[in-house]
Amino acid sequence: MEPGISLRMSIYRRPEARRLLSRLLEEERLYAPGSGADDVLGDMLRLGMLREAARESWLRDPTSGATSFSLRPSCPYCGSSDIEKEELMEHIGCGYVGRASDFLQGGECKICPRCGRPADLRVIGSWFYCRSCRRSFQSPRIIASSGDRTVRVEELEPVVVTRYEVNPVMREEVRGVLSLYSRLEDRLRSLGYSVEESASVTGVSGVPQKFDLIASAQGRSVYADVILAESEPLLLAGVMGQLVKYFDVAHGSRLLLVLVPMSDLPRRLLGSCCPGMIHILGGGSPEEATGAIEGLDL
Ligand SMILES: [Zn+2]
Ligand SMILES: [Zn+2]
Repeated sequence: MEPGISLRMSIYRRPEARRLLSRLLEEERLYAPGSGADDVLGDMLRLGMLREAARESWLRDPTSGATSFSLRPSCPYCGSSDIEKEELMEHIGCGYVGRASDFLQGGECKICPRCGRPADLRVIGSWFYCRSCRRSFQSPRIIASSGDRTVRVEELEPVVVTRYEVNPVMREEVRGVLSLYSRLEDRLRSLGYSVEESASVTGVSGVPQKFDLIASAQGRSVYADVILAESEPLLLAGVMGQLVKYFDVAHGSRLLLVLVPMSDLPRRLLGSCCPGMIHILGGGSPEEATGAIEGLDL
């Protein structure tokens, strides 16, 4: 059984995690070196929100770390990229080997320059010709460029990367929670607030208190938290865990709690401390809570 949603709230709270998840949901491929040991990715893997989709070996510039390049061939003698590829042909009749252009006399007519007969040709390979230094060679040097930096392909080093995807069993939940956060932000903006994600405010106690969103407009502030749990008791435990924080900032400010599942108890707990200043909305699922946000007025 997957761990409950309340355990994943520590992930959903982090704006960088929400951005990562939204990129993954849009089927954007996300690669990371190794097996995802770095923090947010590692946490999401441990909680079963992501899974490894594939491992691949990529080439990386050891100096810049770049893994995507544009490639161009260049002359191994002078470094110029003014080179052209030509097929190497053999006249089957007499064994003469030359460039395809050697056999072209008078347009399309293929005449062997050695024996002068119309030539039946076969391709036996290709070579390159440098127009700068006029030398020929079999293989060009491949130059990889990324931004302002160019390196030879031989200097790139292979690195194993892992591709991640949202665990299919979590997809619906992730989609619901992400849209809940984004609709909440949109709604606050449309009410004229500027919104800061994962921001802190200093409470009456002097301690900085962190909220999922802090919205401000003309001297007014709204401190908003989203709390999702798999059951009402766990939801209440989550709210209770934050009570000190809410009491610390609530005086004279507006608190907005978005709850899934919806519960009225937090209003009764907090209402006496700051009457009229606490707004609670929510629903039985993230989708229902998103719907309730549409009617929000502050
Ligand atoms: Zn010939
Ligand atoms: Zn050259």
